[in-house]
Amino acid sequence: MAEVISIANQKGGVGKTTTAVNLAASLAVAEKKVLLIDMDAQANATTYLGINQEQLSKNKSTVYEVLLGKASIKQSQIATSVPNLFLVPANENLISIDTQVRTQSKLKIEKSLKTILRKPLQAVLDNYNYVIIDCPPNFATLSVASLAASNSVIVPVQCEFFPMNGLTNLQQNIEIIRSGLNGRLTIKGILPTMYTNQTNIAKEVLEDIKANFMEKLFKYTDESNQTRCVCIPRNVKLAESPSFAKPIMFYDVKSPGAVAYRRLANVILGEAVG
Ligand code: ATP
Ligand code: MG
Repeated sequence: MAEVISIANQKGGVGKTTTAVNLAASLAVAEKKVLLIDMDAQANATTYLGINQEQLSKNKSTVYEVLLGKASIKQSQIATSVPNLFLVPANENLISIDTQVRTQSKLKIEKSLKTILRKPLQAVLDNYNYVIIDCPPNFATLSVASLAASNSVIVPVQCEFFPMNGLTNLQQNIEIIRSGLNGRLTIKGILPTMYTNQTNIAKEVLEDIKANFMEKLFKYTDESNQTRCVCIPRNVKLAESPSFAKPIMFYDVKSPGAVAYRRLANVILGEAVG
């Protein structure tokens, strides 16, 4: 049965989509069957994987129809150019889901948040090893529904702003979801992104994250047997790869960005039970 992992942070532009696409692709390259679900109306993960929006609106159901119960995940998923990686695409229709859910009675809202993604997902969990969900930059309906359907969440944190307030806020939100909608939800890990040793702020932010959240960082052992934390470097190839509609390992496999996302996937594969 698939492990369902949301990539979430209410802050915009921290590397959620970059992480969702490249982690999903790295796991797929490691021969796991992976489903990536785009839960953001910006549809950046969909575009990153080269899916054309015009084509989508004509021929194909998206995550929007899945959330409304008008299509199954099986009907909406698309095989991508990466073997083993399938995508449930998004388009801008997703914007209206929030209003559609919020205008129901209070009781129905809670039920919707809990089930709109979780229920359709349950039907395909046996078909995949991993389901990765790319969340939008807020804590509204789509993120809450994603977390309600997940086993765990990975939180990308940009090494450019001190993240402590945002992280405390996020932890509180996750606690609320755990106590109400999804008791099994855990924080799988915090992932520092866009790290560069060229600026003091990045070094300070990384130290701050290590000082406060060491146990939540992804760890690996390097060639000289030292324990290190997985940290995604600021890497121009990573920033370029969406324009070429290629996950980083198909754009520049030797780039520091590709190495870092492969490392993250290896840590996650190493943690997997069974
Ligand atoms: P949003 O909140 O809008 O959904 P996001 O959190 O999904 O944003 P991304 O879209 O992944 O963030 O990244 C924001 C921008 O930063 C993109 O242009 C992306 O290509 C670039 N970027 C992400 N990670 C890196 C990195 N490690 N090095 C260089 N550029 C990066
Ligand atoms: Mg995004």
